[in-house]
Amino acid sequence: MIELSERLQAMEESATIAMSQKSRELKAEGKDVISLSLGEPDFNTPDFIKAAANSAIKDNYTNYTPVPGYEDLRKAIANKFKRDNDLHYATNQIVVSTGAKQSIANVSMSVVNAGDEVIIPAPFWVSYIEIVKVSEGVPVIVNAGIDTDFKITAEQLEEAITEKTKLMIFSTPCNPTGSVYSKEELRALADVLVKHPQIVVICDEIYEHINFGTRHESLAQFDDVYNQVVTVNGVSKAWAMTGWRLGYIGANKEIAAACSKIQGQFTSGTCSITQRAAIAAMDADPVVLKDMIAAFGSRRTLVLDKLNEIEGVKTNVPGGAFYVFPDVSYFYGKSFNGTTIENGSDLAMFLLNEALVALVTGEAFGDPNCIRISYAASEKVLTEAMKRIKEALEKLS
Ligand code: PMP
Ligand code: GLU
Repeated sequence: MIELSERLQAMEESATIAMSQKSRELKAEGKDVISLSLGEPDFNTPDFIKAAANSAIKDNYTNYTPVPGYEDLRKAIANKFKRDNDLHYATNQIVVSTGAKQSIANVSMSVVNAGDEVIIPAPFWVSYIEIVKVSEGVPVIVNAGIDTDFKITAEQLEEAITEKTKLMIFSTPCNPTGSVYSKEELRALADVLVKHPQIVVICDEIYEHINFGTRHESLAQFDDVYNQVVTVNGVSKAWAMTGWRLGYIGANKEIAAACSKIQGQFTSGTCSITQRAAIAAMDADPVVLKDMIAAFGSRRTLVLDKLNEIEGVKTNVPGGAFYVFPDVSYFYGKSFNGTTIENGSDLAMFLLNEALVALVTGEAFGDPNCIRISYAASEKVLTEAMKRIKEALEKLS
C-alpha cells in the first residue's frame, strides 16, 4: 500500500471547494440545493475579452510563453498598477501565474524557510494556511473579531512579530469578511512593518474592484515598505475569469525572479490564450465594471437586510468582495430534531440538510463563530436562499 507524504497528509482540503463539490453532488442527485459556497462571480466573462482569446487562437498564440508571462502582458499589468493603484512596477517586477492562488504559493515558497513564522490575520482566506504549511512555515494567527470590523490593529501586529517572523499574508477587500482597510489603517500597519525590514507582506488585492465605498488602497503605495510588499491581484473576480486561471504579482526584483524560477520548474507559466485575453482585461477602463459592482452592491444590501431580520445573527457591513460573514454563535447549543448545533460546521451542515443552502463554516476561515455566505448569485436566488435560512434557523431552540 502506498503511503502518501506527510506533507499531503497534513494538508486540509479547501473548504470552499469541498462545499461547492458537495452541493454539485446533491444537485446531481436531484436536490434543489442553492449554492452560496463558492466565491465565483455569476457573470460571464465580457465579450471583448473572449474576442481577444479567439484572436489569440486564430493567430497561433499556442506555444510556451516566457515563464513570467508575455512581455506585453506584463507591460499592460504595469500600466494597470500605475493607472488604478499609483504603483510603479517595471516588467521585471511582475510575474503572471496560474491564478492568484499560485502567485501566493510562489511567494511563500520563495521566502519561507522551515520554522519561519507567518502572520495571518483571522478571518483569512482558507488557502493561506495550507500554502504556508506546505512551505514549512508556521502560521501565527492574529484574531480580529466582528467588533473591529474583522481588521487587526497595528498594536496586534507589533505583538505578533518575533525574530522568526518572515511573512504576513492578508487580503483587502477581505475574503471572507468583505472588510476593507483604509489608507490610515494600512499606514499604521506600515509603521510597524518598516521597523522589521526582513518581513515580506503579501497584500492580496484580488477583490480590488469589488469595492462599494471609498477608493481601493494598496499597502505598497507607501515608499518605506514598497520593497517589502508583494501586491497580488488577478482576473478571476473583477473580470469573471475564474476558469481562465491567471493571477499576478508586483514585487521587488528578487522576489519576482524567485517566483519565476519556481514556476519555471512547476508550470512553465500560465496558458498562452489566457494571457492574450488578460491583456484586453488589463487595458480596459475599470469603469466598464460599474454595472457588475452595482449589482453586487444591491445583493449585499438584500442579504444584510434579510440576515438582520433573523434574531441572533450579528453582521458587519462588508465594504467590498461578495461575501457576508455573520456571527451565528447565538445558535450554538440549540437543537432541532435531535441535532444539536455545536459550532459553525454543524450549522453549515444543518443549513445544507434543512434549508438546502450550501455555505461555508467560518472555522475554515479562522473564526468558528461565523459562517460565510457568498452572494455571487442573482437577487431571486438570494431571496429564496435567505428565506430558507431564516426558516431553518427559526426551528432551532
Ligand atoms: N485570494 C483570495 C482572497 C481569493 O478569494 C481567491 C479565490 N479565488 C484567490 C486569492 C485566488 O484566486 P485565483 O487563483 O482564482 O486567481
Ligand atoms: N476564492 C474563492 C472562494 O473563496 C474560490 C474558491 C477557492 O479558490 O478557494 O470561494
